[in-house]
Order: sequence, then C-alpha cells, then structure tokens
Amino acid sequence: MSETRTKVGQVHPADVDVVIVGAGFAGLYMLYKCRQLGLKAVVLESADGIGGTWYHNRYPGARCDIESLDYSYSFSEELQQEWHWTERYASQPEILSYIEHVADRFDLNRDIRLNTRVIGAEFDENTARWAIITENGDTLATRYFVMATGVLSAAQVPDIPGRDSFEGEWYHTGSWPHEEVDFTGKRVAVVGTGSSGTQLIPIVAESASELYVLQRTANFCMPAQNRPLDPELERDWKAHYPERRAFARSSNFGHNQLSNPLSGKEASAKERRAEFERRWELGGLYMMRAFKDIMTDADVNLDAVSYVHEQIDALVNDPATSDVLKPKDLFIGTKRLSSGTNYYETFNRGNVSLIDVAADPIKRIQGHSIELDSGRRMEVDVIIYATGFDAMSGSMLRIDPVGRKALTLSEHWSGGPRTYLGITVAGFPNMFIIAGPGSPSVFSNMVNSIEQHVEWVAAAMSYLDDHGFATLKATSEAERDWVQHVNDIAERTLYRHARKTWFYGANTPGKPVVFMPYLGGVNNYVTHIASIAENGYTGFELTPQAHPEKTERTSFSPQRTGKT
Ligand code: NAP
Repeated sequence: MSETRTKVGQVHPADVDVVIVGAGFAGLYMLYKCRQLGLKAVVLESADGIGGTWYHNRYPGARCDIESLDYSYSFSEELQQEWHWTERYASQPEILSYIEHVADRFDLNRDIRLNTRVIGAEFDENTARWAIITENGDTLATRYFVMATGVLSAAQVPDIPGRDSFEGEWYHTGSWPHEEVDFTGKRVAVVGTGSSGTQLIPIVAESASELYVLQRTANFCMPAQNRPLDPELERDWKAHYPERRAFARSSNFGHNQLSNPLSGKEASAKERRAEFERRWELGGLYMMRAFKDIMTDADVNLDAVSYVHEQIDALVNDPATSDVLKPKDLFIGTKRLSSGTNYYETFNRGNVSLIDVAADPIKRIQGHSIELDSGRRMEVDVIIYATGFDAMSGSMLRIDPVGRKALTLSEHWSGGPRTYLGITVAGFPNMFIIAGPGSPSVFSNMVNSIEQHVEWVAAAMSYLDDHGFATLKATSEAERDWVQHVNDIAERTLYRHARKTWFYGANTPGKPVVFMPYLGGVNNYVTHIASIAENGYTGFELTPQAHPEKTERTSFSPQRTGKT
C-alpha cells in the first residue's frame, strides 16, 4: 500500500470480510446476504441516514416511475406480503420508510456506520486484502470490497459564472435539505428539465410567485398516471408474487410492465396510433415498450414522436411555448423518458415562464439575478438545480480505488468506464460493483437488478471460500470483450443518435463519451452471468489462498425485529 494515499488510521489485519459502501437498496441487501453466508460485513455510509438515492432526493414531487409492487425487494415473502404501498408509483417518503422498515425488520442497522465517507481504497497484493480509508481517519482491512454507491448519486451543479456569489437560496434536487423548503411568494428559477425537474416544476409552481423554467434541451415527459393503489390489484399481486417476480427476472426490463411483442414496422398506421394512445394512458415508461422495434426502427419511433408532439400541442395553450417544449431531433426514449404529473399543463399558469436557454444561454449569476446572453435578467430568490448526476461511474471515481500495480480506477477508466459484466473491473480483485456500468442497471427495475447482482456476488464469495481461493479477478481480455459487446448492442439501437445524454456520460464535463448501460435485456444478461458462474467463473482468474483454510462461517437466520 502506498504511503502517500493512506491518509491516517490504523490498519487491522482482517477487520471484516466485506466492506460495503452505501446504505441504499443495494448496500442493505448485500449486508443481509453476507450475514446469511456467515461473513462479517459492514456498511459505510456518508449520509446520516440510510436510503441512498431515496435519502438524498427528497425534492418536492420525487417519486419512482416503476410500479411500487415491482420496485421492492423480493427476497422475503413475508416482507412483500405484509408491506402495503399506498400508490401505484411510490413517493420518496414512502420508499424511504420502506427501506427503513427493511433495515429494522432484518436488524441491519447494527452493521451500518453512518456519517462515514469512504475517501479511498487500496488493494494490497501481498495480503490480498483491501484497505478502505474513511474521511473520519479509519482504515478497514477487508477481503471483499463492494461498491453499492448508486448509479445516480454524484450530484452535479453546473459551473455557471458567478454561481457561488448568488445571494438567494439554492438547492440541488439530488441533495435536498431535510427541512421543508417553502416557496410561497418567492421568485424561483429551476435549471434543468430531466426526470427530477419535470416532477418538481408543477409542485413549485403552485406556491412560487414567479417560476422561471430554464430549459436547455426539451425532453419527452409522459403523464405518470399515478393514482392510489387499487386494492384489488394489490390482492392479485400478493396472491401471485412469486410468479410476478419470476416474470420480472425473465423480462427485458426486470419488471412487469407490458411490453408489446409486435413489430411497429409491420403494424398499420391505425394500429400504431391505437398502441401509442394506449401507452399514453398507461403512462410513464410504457411508451418505451409500445413495439418491440420502437428503439431500433426510426420510422416507428418517429411516429411515436409525432404522437407525443400532438399531445403537447393539445395540453399547452400557447403555441410558441408548446413549440419550445417539443423535443426536436430526438428519438423518443433515447434521452431517459421523464414521467410527470401536470408537467405540460403547468406552462399554462400565469406565474410560469419557459426560458429557452439553448437559444439564449445563461451568461452569469450576479446578486439575485440570472443573466442570459441576450442581456435579459431574471431576479430570483431561489435557484433549484435539477441538473443531474455524474452518472454510473461518478460515485466510484470520487473514491478512486487503487487496484493491482498501483493502478487507479480513474486511470483505468480514462477512456470511459470498463467492467466485466458490469460487476467487476480487471486489475481490481475482489472488488464488486452493484448495478455498475456495463450491466442493465438504469435500463431495468433497479431493485430487481440489485437483488440479482447481490446474489451473484454473494455466490461468488461463497465459491471462493468453498474452493480455497483468495481472489477473483476479471481478465483484461474478458473485460475488453464485454465492453465491446455493450457498445455493439448500443450501436444497433437508436441510442447511437443521442450521444449528448448521461447514458453516454456526456452531461459531465470532461467525461469520455461512451455508452455505459447494457441494453441487451435483463433476461439475456441474467442467463449470461449465471452461466459464467456455473462454468467456474469464465473470464476470471481465481488465485489460491496462500494457506488454504476453510473460512469459518457463523450461521445466520434472518431475524425479525421491527414491527410491520
Ligand atoms: P438529468 O436527466 O441529467 O437532467 C438534467 C437537466 O439539467 C437536463 O435538462 C440538462 O439539460 C439540464 N442542465 C444540466 N446542466 C445545465 C446547464 N449548465 N444549463 C442548463 N441546463 C442544464 O437529471 P435528473 O433530472 O436529475 O435525472 C437523472 C436521472 O435520475 C433520470 O434520467 C432518471 O434515470 C433518474 N430519475 C428518476 C426519477 C423517477 O423515477 N421518476 C426521478 C428523478 C430522477 P441538457 O439535457 O441540455 O443537458
């Protein structure tokens, strides 16, 4: 371990078996699985509460766009039977209380260290241990290092000239304060119209005296069609949960949303239209699955674009505003679809102005004003940055682990994130990523993908112990081929025409433009990585333990502690 990188603290030879970074959905389930294996695991979490994404993104209107009954853990039948979701799509407070309930119920909190930011990690080739370095000055030695750091967790505030001199209040949606923010009577500017902005804007508009929406690129916002959860539907799901979960895992996207298996290319204009209407009524992300070729066939996709443009025209009274809100030169879905309630309708309000900052860019912030290139100035009390994240790799690069031969992750990823299967990185033995770049991740129901990754990682740890191996490391060849495969798939889709999105990392200044998620489908992915394990971890090198000894494992049976 290099002297320079180790900040402070005492390294204990084998503090724990597993260090997990992040106490969101992924970190909690990883901890649960490690305990099942009898491994001593600890979760390090920088925040002062658990929940990850759902802890930080507490902006008004924050809500999931995968149905609650799907976007939840499947590992405990009792849990899924007893938990009651109140809405079709759960709000952030409800998801957070669900996560807290899970942590209580399975007694996870005792192995979670809050307010513990990991600032570095180094692999020691002599001991085959990772040293995990925290901001508090501790260093933990561990066999396994699991990055459950989230894919959309490294919030980005744009570097607008004068930003830090702003004299009002400012917030980022991804690190929203715990106290309620009152916009009553305030002049507010929202920068950004992605998924976070489109959820927040209609709510802020209700209390702000003036709301300026600064839009740089229009995106498609589908009506969420959220509603209270239908008790009949809930009963039906609960009666068939195992089948629902199995269906999700064998589907393309890891959930139960209806995918149309028919080709839009082969459908008549009337049939296409009828399907788009149906998808609009289903709401949210359903449009992405209108036809099996909607993301590969330009004609089919553009037909959906025209349909949604029509809806925007119908919803927005002012034609000039409607025109700016309509995405141009963009295949629907190639920029992550937004899902909102009353988003387009909000622009009919007298207190809401849409500002096209592509046509007239933001020049600077000064005092209480935002000034555009044209010289136009908006006086505001509050700026909300709904400006997104250094997606998929940012949270890991902020830790920047050092692997074998002193190679840093940032050096290894200087040309863009490289992984084998989205779970491991060549040169970083025994380091695992949950739902990382190169896995279905953001193109799936995240909770489903998280469970599936955690189970794969736990099985790998178990395999190493049972067979007397010290480390598992992806080979460079396997990693190279996987990266190529991920990119080849993306190139066969319409995503290749929208390279300015966070899927490509293009929203982060200086980040290489490389498509990051795996688009081949959850079903194919699950089958593939299962076969890798079944075949004795193809594409990995397994190194024997210096003094093979079967790891002592304590037995663990999940304990119920909290109340339901
Ligand atoms: P985002 O999709 O990256 O959107 C960021 C927005 O900020 C874009 O409109 C972007 O414009 C704009 N922006 C960034 N820098 C700017 C600048 N300097 N000047 C003007 N505009 C600027 O971020 P997000 O809305 O937080 O969403 C990120 C992802 O989180 C989503 O895609 C989704 O996967 C997830 N999410 C999901 C939900 C849900 O489940 N419903 C809710 C929220 C978030 P450009 O497009 O021009 O770059």
